[in-house]
Amino acid sequence: MPATRPVRIGADTVTTDEDLVVRSPFDGSEVGRVPRCDASHVERAVRAGVAALADPLAPWQRAEILDAAAHAMVRHRDELARTIAQEAAKPIRTARVEAERTVVTFQSAAVEARTLVGEVVPIDGASPGAGKLAFTLRVPRGVVAAISPFNFPLNLVVHKVAPAIAAGCPVVLKPASQTPLSAILLQEILMDECGLPPGWLSIVTGSGGAIGDPLVEHPDVAVITFTGSPDVGWAIAAKAADKHVGLELGNNAPVIIEPSGDWQAAAAKISVAGFSHAGQSCISTQRIYVHRSIADEFTSALVERVEDLVVGDPLDEATDVSSLISESETERVRAWIAEAVEAGAEVRCGGDLVDGVLAPTVLSGVTPEMEVCRSEVFGPLVGIIAYDELDDALAQANDTRYGLQAAVFTAELATALRAARELDFGGVLVNEVPTFRTDQMPYGGVRDSGNTKEGPHYAVREMTRERLVIIQS
Ligand code: NAP
Repeated sequence: MPATRPVRIGADTVTTDEDLVVRSPFDGSEVGRVPRCDASHVERAVRAGVAALADPLAPWQRAEILDAAAHAMVRHRDELARTIAQEAAKPIRTARVEAERTVVTFQSAAVEARTLVGEVVPIDGASPGAGKLAFTLRVPRGVVAAISPFNFPLNLVVHKVAPAIAAGCPVVLKPASQTPLSAILLQEILMDECGLPPGWLSIVTGSGGAIGDPLVEHPDVAVITFTGSPDVGWAIAAKAADKHVGLELGNNAPVIIEPSGDWQAAAAKISVAGFSHAGQSCISTQRIYVHRSIADEFTSALVERVEDLVVGDPLDEATDVSSLISESETERVRAWIAEAVEAGAEVRCGGDLVDGVLAPTVLSGVTPEMEVCRSEVFGPLVGIIAYDELDDALAQANDTRYGLQAAVFTAELATALRAARELDFGGVLVNEVPTFRTDQMPYGGVRDSGNTKEGPHYAVREMTRERLVIIQS
């Protein structure tokens, strides 16, 4: 039985009487134990953050810590990747990419720490301002409560912790209960190897239902940064009306493939973008609107590639697709497939379990009322919808409660520009899948996809506020 992995709260190394057991979603084996924190641990963690704020880190110190972290992520890449693969069942090659991405996230945050500025305010543009000079300073908002999901247990934590360090804000992190080990390893690296002083990152592990409210309602928490499902996210926002709340939520990403578009390139990209981490990405390609004139060729090309994906153990270098995070999630997606088939969709490949893992699935004949179209699948499944008119494809793509990223494949400049104007999403991609992301770009959605942008440059602005300074000369 693995020993309990303690968390750090302030300067203390903390265990609890009762543990939270972390199991591999692939084979159910125990991969670790972490403390089961309660409201008293949340209180200690927030108090440690308040104490840290009283002894601020200078911007150059923040930058040096972040630079050191970027180097440490390179050194620890394999250990981090293995931890992600074990606790999240993310195939090891994909887990390695997640670990590598944190390097850019930390590097970008270090740039922000070094360059964070306010602006000069032209105060003498109005007569009472004559003879005065004004500018703004960007100051830390205060203690940040960060709540993260299971699907990117390392890089999405870094997307909260790194900008907070750059902004000069201490963090209390609550990682997902299914995947807390990557976050704890990150904390150990930051505190033991990168010079992050106690209090700047405390971790409370435990169920969101038990420690969520004490954290998000704590009067000394100034900022909440949440990534996860819309129901949980909006409920937190409702409880924290006096705080600055950033939400990164779900999506059911559409892509439109026009007759002039390179549909072979689209098929190749979607065979990865719909199935990476078994579709458990908020920008996993899900709804494929393909012009009827190329639908058959496109579908055959996609199915051929998807059938080649290797299903199995996440620790096997050959594996492309492994288990969903839980059996209940597997059963949910299977039920949605059954409902779609009942309503007239056709399974072109997949649809069944292979050694307990849901095989990558392509459905055609999908219609808007099916769950696989209107809801977020978060599983290894794409649905194909043939269309005749671009107007209709754009309207169907927009007909969603979500709005994170959408895409179009076209060789026509006018169509690309029209899609950019009319697709009502946080990001629109042309000749690229909606699943594309780099870690420094502005990333965030509208409607039930959220209310903020991540990427260190943007997140740092969420975690700081502007203070106006006026000087009478
Ligand atoms: P989730 O169930 O909403 O959980 C997210 C986090 O919220 C977990 O740490 C969870 O803790 C915590 N939580 C649960 N109930 C809470 C409460 N009452 N108060 C405070 N915290 C609470 O989401 P998930 O299943 O982990 O992640 C999947 C979702 O995340 C999908 O919808 C996906 O699209 C979205 N996502 C969005 C982005 C983006 O950038 N837009 C990125 C990745 C994922 P426990 O684990 O202890 O329950």
